[in-house]
Amino acid sequence: MKPPRFEYYDPASLDEALALLAQHGDEAKLLAGGQSLVPLLNLRLARPRVLVDLNPLDELAYVRAENGHLAIGALTRQRDLELSEVARARCPLLAEALRLVGHPTIRNRGTVGGNLAHADPASELPAVALALEAEFVARSSRGERRVPARAFFVHALTTALAADEALVEVRIPALPAGAGWAFVELARRHGDYAIAGAAAALTLDASGRIAWARLSLCGVGPVPIRPLEAERLLPGRQPGPDLWRAVGEAAAEASDPASDLQATADYRRAMVEVYVARALERAAARASES
Ligand SMILES: Cc1cc2nc3c(=O)[nH]c(=O)nc-3n(C[C@H](O)[C@H](O)[C@H](O)COP(=O)(O)OP(=O)(O)OC[C@H]3O[C@@H](n4cnc5c(N)ncnc54)[C@H](O)[C@@H]3O)c2cc1C
Repeated sequence: MKPPRFEYYDPASLDEALALLAQHGDEAKLLAGGQSLVPLLNLRLARPRVLVDLNPLDELAYVRAENGHLAIGALTRQRDLELSEVARARCPLLAEALRLVGHPTIRNRGTVGGNLAHADPASELPAVALALEAEFVARSSRGERRVPARAFFVHALTTALAADEALVEVRIPALPAGAGWAFVELARRHGDYAIAGAAAALTLDASGRIAWARLSLCGVGPVPIRPLEAERLLPGRQPGPDLWRAVGEAAAEASDPASDLQATADYRRAMVEVYVARALERAAARASES
């Protein structure tokens, strides 16, 4: 199918793009990589009257290390972030999650900002952003504000961004020195959205006990989930299968999955137990090697 008619703008600056958003409100949509929006247009599930193309705005494509954070411009292609040496050195969990996002051709075009703003609950990057307490920088003609990850994802495909706001940057804290990490997921085929997925990061102290830990889930609720009670079971404990099982069970309790054509809610909950345990095992192995 072809998309419905729309007016197309290719602004020369971010200010111009924001002025267009302010002018057209919720009748306008930003176009980034188009990997989610263009199918929605073609299926006529989205019918914006105005498209504002971010692609001319090269200044929004960057990955920088800044004071213990990675500052990632919204127009950074997913593949560029996956391959970024700066990101791999400070937060290798990102590359591990990104290799599960679609296929390289999709990641060549799809952007970090588009992925986060689209807010598919089965997406990998939102789960990483939530686990690591990322900050989202939103800008409009009215000014700039920062939104913590826990407040950014409001519901499936819905974020805290107002109609006149663009996501311009995401700020992801670097992993602590010596951290191990893992992102694992169940999908029907490589590149499909996750039926259930888990991110884990942890550090070990000198005695081999867990010192710091982060967990998050995707595909098992209307938004990515940080299972805080499960996470709190980890610090001070010796890594091992019994602990992984207990944390997996607690994470499954925190999940809120729905049944659909791919899997029942009960199956998804059971997979949370399995994939959280796997993520923790892999993260602990990496931490003990470092
Ligand atoms: C076959 C296929 C498989 C895929 N598999 C996965 C997968 O496994 N995991 C996964 O996470 N994703 C997957 N995707 C989606 C892909 O990651 C998209 O690139 C991403 O969801 C949207 O990014 P985009 O840059 O293409 O945004 P677009 O499609 O251009 O835009 C998506 C939405 O975000 C809004 N938007 C874009 N940029 C901004 C911004 N800076 N500020 C505010 N709003 C903005 C748009 O207005 C639109 O509503 C898949 C896509 C395809 C086609």
